[in-house]
Amino acid sequence: MDSVMIKKIGDMFRRAHNRTFRGFEKESNLVWKGPFRFIQAADPQFGLIDEFKYVNWDGPIDKAIRQSIEYKSRGAAVWDDEINLCKLAIEQWNRMIPKPKFVVVCGDLVNDFPGERQRSDQLNDFIETFSKIDQSIPLVLLPGNHDLLNQPTPKTVADYCSKFGDDYFSFWVDGVMFMVINVQYYKDSTKTQQLAKEHDYWIDCQLKDIRNEKNNYKHVIVFQHIPWFTHHIDEPDDSIFNIAMEERKRMIKKFSSNGIRAIFAGHYHRNSCGRYEDLEIVVTSAMGAQIGNSGDKSGYRIVDVDVDSIKHQYVSIE
Ligand SMILES: [Zn+2]
Repeated sequence: MDSVMIKKIGDMFRRAHNRTFRGFEKESNLVWKGPFRFIQAADPQFGLIDEFKYVNWDGPIDKAIRQSIEYKSRGAAVWDDEINLCKLAIEQWNRMIPKPKFVVVCGDLVNDFPGERQRSDQLNDFIETFSKIDQSIPLVLLPGNHDLLNQPTPKTVADYCSKFGDDYFSFWVDGVMFMVINVQYYKDSTKTQQLAKEHDYWIDCQLKDIRNEKNNYKHVIVFQHIPWFTHHIDEPDDSIFNIAMEERKRMIKKFSSNGIRAIFAGHYHRNSCGRYEDLEIVVTSAMGAQIGNSGDKSGYRIVDVDVDSIKHQYVSIE
């Protein structure tokens, strides 16, 4: 439905193609040229700040979901707060010295799920707002649960890809490899079993590429929406905020044993960090609405990559 109503999406939103990212292809980005910086952000989720005024997510979850559906069906949500926060953040990125090599937004671009009433309007405003990023700073996007549904379908995946390019891909910057994965396939692949299988196979192929000594990447960094875990690899399954134990452990061990040292995620709407062996899981709070009493403010993360370190710092927008 929203495919017919949405604004024309500019090329800057659609650079993920053929499982890589235009301008950051492997062949031309294998040489380390010195330290660089990028911005990792998550969950602009246009509309959630307003929803939080009406829906009590601290109470029983079933009741909150009912309230949320009822609230959204009214079609009266506003998202000026998110627009203003994102505009401010983009101004900060555009002024930054050194200039970020790229900005990655780790999913949940807007609050309404596919098929919900105000999704097209929210997406139009997301596109309008983020089109103000300096043309020399590539924008990397990936889908979250609000972009594909909690239980994605082939149609929601195809619809996302038709707007924003591939839902998973790799790219390279100065000898550092970045993998953008679609973790929704690990959260719930009931309706996307074939796509999930292809994605899992693709990850194995990327890991094989990492093991190839010829490549000699300085680092390999993963971006995703839902974190595998928020604090500890053995934490209990959470219906919303982590991936179920069996898949979590299978994938974390695979990433860790193949030399991946950092995974950046979002979805949690507050900051958190965890570790498994030498692999750091960094959960970055939202550009938009915050959840819980963490005291975190809307913000983003500045990541500084050096030859032997990956340092990061969360910055509040206001
Ligand atoms: Zn999410």
